[in-house]
Amino acid sequence: MRMWMVDPRGMCRQHLLGEHVELHMFVGHIRLGRKMGKFVTENLVETKSIQSRHEALVAEMQRRGYEHKSPMVYTDRLALGHVPQQSSLKELLRRCPLCRKQFKKLHEALALPFSERSAALMAEGMQGVQTGRFSSTQSNASNRPKSVKKAVKKAPQKASKKRRGAQSH
Ligand SMILES: [Zn+2]
Ligand SMILES: [Zn+2]
Repeated sequence: MRMWMVDPRGMCRQHLLGEHVELHMFVGHIRLGRKMGKFVTENLVETKSIQSRHEALVAEMQRRGYEHKSPMVYTDRLALGHVPQQSSLKELLRRCPLCRKQFKKLHEALALPFSERSAALMAEGMQGVQTGRFSSTQSNASNRPKSVKKAVKKAPQKASKKRRGAQSH
């Protein structure tokens, strides 16, 4: 069992559904009063984020049209563990070619370079997922016809230059 805590939009089907099931397993484990030791020391769990992570994964599952029939009502009283997002993402991408492919696509849609630095950007993306700040960007990007996609990289720079110009006058 582990929480990946990476941007759900970049996860392959298996890892997205897998982490979702494992969140429910963590809750069962905790309710039975079982030990969390290994999960905490190996940075695989972050109990305070279980509920919000469940909601984030379910939102992505529903966006993809996957079924979800397991609501979660969990109030954390343990405050155990921390999952460092950057190393977690690195590990997921090392393990899974499908996640690699999907994160690459996601970063292209967001006009971000796919590199080591992207881990830091993903951490920012996570906050966006929780607040919904990035969700409209995502749907816009996926609605764009393929031919326009190449132009996407330059467009935001131009726009921000224009804005800066407008402000200085
Ligand atoms: Zn569920
Ligand atoms: Zn995967």
